[in-house]
Amino acid sequence: MARPPHILPPVVSNPSARDAIERVTPGPRASLCPTFIWRPPVSAFDDIVSIVVGQGEDSKTFQCHKGLLGFASEVFARTFSNPSFTEAQTGTATFQHDDPKIFELFYRYMYTGRLFETMQKPTSSTVVFKYCDTNKPLKLCLSQDLEVHPVRAYGPHAIPLHFDELFRLYIFAVSRIAPEIQDVVVSLTFEKICIEGKVPVDLIPYLVENTTDEPEPDELVHMLRAMIAVFADASEVTEYCEEMPQRFLAMLYESKSWMAGPEQRKETKSCICWAHKHALPRKRGDEDTALQGGSGGY
Ligand SMILES: [Zn+2]
Repeated sequence: MARPPHILPPVVSNPSARDAIERVTPGPRASLCPTFIWRPPVSAFDDIVSIVVGQGEDSKTFQCHKGLLGFASEVFARTFSNPSFTEAQTGTATFQHDDPKIFELFYRYMYTGRLFETMQKPTSSTVVFKYCDTNKPLKLCLSQDLEVHPVRAYGPHAIPLHFDELFRLYIFAVSRIAPEIQDVVVSLTFEKICIEGKVPVDLIPYLVENTTDEPEPDELVHMLRAMIAVFADASEVTEYCEEMPQRFLAMLYESKSWMAGPEQRKETKSCICWAHKHALPRKRGDEDTALQGGSGGY
């Protein structure tokens, strides 16, 4: 029987990403995700700058290596390298409108390659496979209906961050041009959905309002759309349609993925690189970039 066409083409056809995958995965099994392998070069650990996040009593100051900030985010790289910017002259930047808790996640990933202590690196595909029942329909819900303590509810492999935190970190990364963090959030969100079997649709408007379809669809929005289209029953979408923005619903109906067969369901869950940017290495001096990590899924 002919294999059904893959109706969810990769959202990003980034040639440098393909090169990066091929470079680290000789042989037929091109399944290593470069996002989880590339780490900053030693030269990124250079001058220390101060980042003040938030306002008043709730603000927090982070001391960071300037090179590391630039490695993680193009916006931070520009902020501290342009001599006409006050930030570059004083070595201090203030982000009043950001949440220190979200910046702390970003900061933690920069220094440790993890968003939380038990995060596996690379996010292990075996974790997903363990929960990878492709016949189990995905449930849509509201964020208030989710478990407050994911670890208590789903065990040690649960992602101990809430969707809301993941999505706010994602939008922080989009606004700071930090594609590596975007990929990490996409992976963790995917994994969380596989483990918990639920998507809080009332958080989707926040993502849609803060991202754009141009020049290509946003990766996280695209991933959520694909997961709902492939794994949720159409009746669930009808029940929660008022929670989702029109633009997102249009994308859902366009995908016509409710006709997806078992092959496509399996393919969609077997790897998440179809929703990654793989924008690495970016202006980082390839030769100098340390290749760390090991073999792993994704
Ligand atoms: Zn990937």
